[in-house]
Amino acid sequence: MQSPTHNEPLKVLLIEDDEDDFILTKSLFSEIQGGRFQLEWVKNPAAGLEALVLNQHDICLVDYRLGAQTGVEVLRAALERGCTSPIILLTGQGEHEIDLEAMQAGAADYLIKSRLDACSLERSIRYAVGRQRAAAAAAADQARLAAFGAEVGLALTRRDSLDAILHRCAAAMSNYLQAELSRIWTFDPEAGLLQLQASVGTITDPDGYPQCNSRTTSPPDLIAEGKPFLFNPALKETPVADRDWVKREGIVACAGYPLMLEERPVGLMVIYSSQPFAPTVLQEMSSVANGIALCVERKRSEEALGASEVRYRSVVESIKEVIFQVNDAGQWTFLNPAWTEITGFKIKESLGKSFVDYVHPEDRERHCEVFQEVIQRGKSFCRDETRFIASDGTFRWVEVYAQPTLGTDLGTSGTITDITERKRAEAEIRKLAAFPRFNPDPVLELASDGTLTYLNQAASEMALSLTVADAAAILPPCASATAQECLRTGQSRLRQEICINERTLSWSFFPILANHVVHCYGQDVTDRLNLEAQLLHAQRLESVGQLAAGVAHDFNNILTIIQGHADRLLGMADLDPRAGDPLKQVSDAASRAAGLTRQLLMFSRKQVMQPRVLDINGLLRDLSKMLHRLLGDDIALECSCTPEPAFIEGDAGMIEQVIMNFSVNARDAMPKGGRLLVATKTVQVGDAYAQQHPDARPGQFICLSVADSGCGMDRETLNRIYEPFFTTKPVGKGTGLGLATVYGIVKQHQGWLEVTSEIGVGTTFKVYLPVTTKTAEVVVEKAAPPAVKGGRETILLVEDEPVLRELAQMILKDYAYEVLEACSGVDALKVWEKRGGNIDLLLTDMVMPEGMTGRELADELRSRKPDLKVIYTSGYSADIMGRDMGRRDTVFLQKPYPPPKLAEMVRACLDK
Ligand code: ADP
Ligand code: MG
Repeated sequence: MQSPTHNEPLKVLLIEDDEDDFILTKSLFSEIQGGRFQLEWVKNPAAGLEALVLNQHDICLVDYRLGAQTGVEVLRAALERGCTSPIILLTGQGEHEIDLEAMQAGAADYLIKSRLDACSLERSIRYAVGRQRAAAAAAADQARLAAFGAEVGLALTRRDSLDAILHRCAAAMSNYLQAELSRIWTFDPEAGLLQLQASVGTITDPDGYPQCNSRTTSPPDLIAEGKPFLFNPALKETPVADRDWVKREGIVACAGYPLMLEERPVGLMVIYSSQPFAPTVLQEMSSVANGIALCVERKRSEEALGASEVRYRSVVESIKEVIFQVNDAGQWTFLNPAWTEITGFKIKESLGKSFVDYVHPEDRERHCEVFQEVIQRGKSFCRDETRFIASDGTFRWVEVYAQPTLGTDLGTSGTITDITERKRAEAEIRKLAAFPRFNPDPVLELASDGTLTYLNQAASEMALSLTVADAAAILPPCASATAQECLRTGQSRLRQEICINERTLSWSFFPILANHVVHCYGQDVTDRLNLEAQLLHAQRLESVGQLAAGVAHDFNNILTIIQGHADRLLGMADLDPRAGDPLKQVSDAASRAAGLTRQLLMFSRKQVMQPRVLDINGLLRDLSKMLHRLLGDDIALECSCTPEPAFIEGDAGMIEQVIMNFSVNARDAMPKGGRLLVATKTVQVGDAYAQQHPDARPGQFICLSVADSGCGMDRETLNRIYEPFFTTKPVGKGTGLGLATVYGIVKQHQGWLEVTSEIGVGTTFKVYLPVTTKTAEVVVEKAAPPAVKGGRETILLVEDEPVLRELAQMILKDYAYEVLEACSGVDALKVWEKRGGNIDLLLTDMVMPEGMTGRELADELRSRKPDLKVIYTSGYSADIMGRDMGRRDTVFLQKPYPPPKLAEMVRACLDK
């Protein structure tokens, strides 16, 4: 029905077959005060029915008596055909049955014409129209509500995301609840926050309201109580925070309905409008609230389930361990991607295959036995290390953990872990562990508190050999503190020494921070330290020797001059008798001094050596008479020699000197008498001995030992005995050159010395000299020197030192020789040229300026005159002349020389 406006007249249809009655009714209408009616009269009932079903009238009046038909029949027919207008029946007289019939048929009222007046007619029409309109409005509301419910219901059953669904619900609210903005939040109980999910409407969203904290703002308080709210129309106390928005948009009404499930809030829906809401709006919201709440809840748990499934899958797929299932037939039924990672086989290809096929053939029987027990429920689990085949033909070590599959199915499930690396590491560790075990040096491990946690075989053996009670005692006493410091600083400590029973152990501490332990590596360095000390000693002697040699050489030249001139003067026939004695003393002092410098040169091994093959035993025999005399009656001399000759290659004079020096020292050490044992022995020196002595080397040696029962020496003295000028004897008694000379001589003979001494017991010196394979030559004849003769031959004298040259020249001239002088090799060549090579003998110094040595000069001149006689002379020359001095044709004259010695040598050389 169209809703009539107030000003429009009410359209009235009158179906009346009696014209008089029509006029009567018409006049009644005109009597109605203030009412405006538009009356349409239809006489024919059939035409009336047609007009009725058009529904164009606000009210219809139908006469009861309509010829053959009754008004009730028309009424029924009209209603049947969809007439919605209210119909009032008119009748001539009051009949109770007709009244009842009319009302039952659906008439709006029943009026009796005879009693009808304008007032009652108007009231009846107004009531009927009012009732009709109310009914129509109610029906429309019903329809709207139904459509709203259907729309929301449809939205909730969609397979869509939660916010898409809620968006549709909000749209339905805006549509059907006359809301200008509809919003739906979900409630996050963990965060205590409302989360805006949907906002639909014709007005813009307020800012700042999509999220609010349930503890501090009112809407969540309201929803916590679960109470709907309606602010209608005054919005002063609305919970909308944004007042500006309310004003701007002209909002006057707001209705909220919490979404609750079992008294638990899951969300909130709120609608806003610039018109007041119908009081029923909350009811209308309530009709969908539960459905939406359920949907929110369901979607949420679906999402949670989805997430946990995704989580589960990602764990299984990304885990490094293989997760597997095997059925009771032993076939793979599930494998995760780690399977491919470890074995290289594709999962698809492996599923359905027997697990046995993947076990290393050698491990198959044993592993399957274990596994089968779990499959058959004989065991609750198994753990096994075995080898699996990989797709590239190699093997992987794996650890299998299996347990019966849950549920009623037989079979097993579990994990397979790749332990190849671990196995490799274990093998490595085993290998590494063997190192300390087989280390010949002691290895110990200390815990962080300093307690001993490991020691190797060598360590316990060392403890045993050093006779210490406890193995830890071979460590330095501060080992525990050192270990703790190493662990604290992370730094190692090296070379911590400890002396136990005359052995020196050197320890190094290495912190192993990962294990909180310290590894201690020890070494017996006694022998090395000894060697080092000996070497150091030898080096010191060497440098002292060089110093001594330098002094001795220059000193020698001076002595040669002094002695030469003194002897020359002494030889003069017309010598003043008063000068004779002093000159003799000058000469003697000079020769004593020359003796000293000779010893110095011997020590520094610059003494020229004239080696021959000689038998030390023979030499000892010759010397023994002299030794007896030297030692005196209080000292018993014993000689113990090898039965066969002890041949060495050496300078007899020097070796005699060695024995003499030992003997003199021994005598001094035994002032109250004693025993001196001189012995020779052939020894075979081996590697072991050689390694402990810096000068020693393997081979055959003669060991000459001189042992006394004297006062002995302390360690300090022993350390210095070979130093020149070191003496413990009173001034004037000792020179400190005796043992220095011995040292030089022995070294020059490619030998070495050993000394042992004990205070109050005695001292033993041992000299080791290499055995020679050469046989002894004719022993040097020691005939009495004949009187020296001179001669008339021409001698070329080459000497760079002018004073020495002059002396030599005078001596030779004293013996009647013709002497030609030259101050260098080059100068000598000139003299030679001048004399046309008419020279019989060359007497030359070894070391000279102008880049030509005596040897080079001699070689040059000999190439011109092969039978030229040559005598070399030098203060020192061993280094330059070396072994050549042993050559037959070489004649060497050691400076300083007494004049007769020079003359004697020159004569002998010329006569050869
Ligand atoms: P000197 O005999 O002139 O003192 P040496 O070089 O011969 O010089 O000896 C050096 C020192 O070595 C001696 O002063 C003495 O202290 C010590 N010495 C050498 N031989 C012996 C020995 N057989 N017994 C005890 N001490 C010795
Ligand atoms: Mg001495």
